[in-house]
Amino acid sequence: MDSASLSCARLTGWTIGAVVLQILGLSLFVLGFFPVKPTLHGVSGSESYYKPKCDDVNVGQDSVANHRNLPPEELRSLYKELSGIPPVFDRLIVMVIDGLPAEFVLGRDDLSPTKEMMESMPYIQALLSSGNAIGFHAKAAPPTVTMPRLKAIVSGAIGGYLDVAFNFNTQAFHDDNLLAQFSYIGWKMIMLGDETWIKLFPDLFTRQDGVTSFFVKDTVDVDFNVSRHLKSELSADDWDLLILHYLGLDHVGHIGGRRCNLMMPKLKEMDEVIEKIHTSVILDDNNGSKQTLLMVVSDHGMTDNGNHGGSSYEETDSVALFIRLGGHVPKSAPLKFQTISQVDIVPTLALLFSVPIPKNNVGVVLLEILDFLTGVLYVSGLIRNVWYLFVIRKSYPLCNQYSNVYIFFLKQLNFIKNEGQCPNYKIENRNINRSKKK
Ligand SMILES: [Zn+2]
Repeated sequence: MDSASLSCARLTGWTIGAVVLQILGLSLFVLGFFPVKPTLHGVSGSESYYKPKCDDVNVGQDSVANHRNLPPEELRSLYKELSGIPPVFDRLIVMVIDGLPAEFVLGRDDLSPTKEMMESMPYIQALLSSGNAIGFHAKAAPPTVTMPRLKAIVSGAIGGYLDVAFNFNTQAFHDDNLLAQFSYIGWKMIMLGDETWIKLFPDLFTRQDGVTSFFVKDTVDVDFNVSRHLKSELSADDWDLLILHYLGLDHVGHIGGRRCNLMMPKLKEMDEVIEKIHTSVILDDNNGSKQTLLMVVSDHGMTDNGNHGGSSYEETDSVALFIRLGGHVPKSAPLKFQTISQVDIVPTLALLFSVPIPKNNVGVVLLEILDFLTGVLYVSGLIRNVWYLFVIRKSYPLCNQYSNVYIFFLKQLNFIKNEGQCPNYKIENRNINRSKKK
């Protein structure tokens, strides 16, 4: 009797111990795999154009209220005035080719794309070789699925794996981002293509026509629904931002992988869209008053089998092309093979269009694109870029990735000699020196 109750007590003890161990293990896995992502609250505002202070951790809280008080036109003029330099471009076209690996356009390592690919995209290749476009391998952070990648392209922040779950039930995006910044200055925006954009920004677009990415076997209608609006939208002059999100190429990948026989015709179709936009809008700008920048980006790449979501080179190798940079295209040939981070697009576009860099951005400004911009806007924008990285770094003491970016940036700008030192007064001195030189 005694020995039976003893073994029963022992069994109960072991069971409880095993359950506790299982709960601990599960918690460790969940915390490690889905870490809570700390973000800075608020929206970047006019403080972006002033020098940051050392205790300036909650920057932007006051300017949120100021934003609401200023009419968009006034805010736009304020940003232009504070930046000191008028924007180079008046409006922006963002063409997203879902799932296009940069390798298809720029090649891999020192090798050019295959002959078949070059012949399928002759217009882009001509733009690149003539220096009218700059191409980058834009490294996308995993998870390489559309929704988190779009968030990164507009906010400059890197999401977590939890976003994979939300990818199927996209909610409105409320963090500080480029589209919100454009709306504050009164931009009119048009969206055609993947309806994820409309789910992320439900009330933002003046005109929109969303298509679902659910029917992956559809490679024709899904793109036709975007292209059918091109003629009317390209001839309209009432918009400042036109977003075109083509899903067909990603669907071709899902059907038959990179070597699917539908791939080359799809590349050709995308090339023709770019040619159409370039010839009808950008060349026309020479006669008109508006200067347009065309950006061609992909959200992620794809494996040989056409899958994506992971962190392999093939899946993270997305593309970023800047087309027509007002005659200021520098050293185009070697840049074709340069690798940047996908989030670097965000601060670069913010500076190009004179809006504040979104609050949680961890991307760095692409100096190659901006090397024709000098002076106060350039320097103050970079300082604020560094400062956000610094503030975020303090929230992520264990995350070397951000501290490395921060230190790289400070070194690059040569503002301070000692890593980790508060940049405040030395930035001030540097600024005075720069403006004197000017
Ligand atoms: Zn896909």
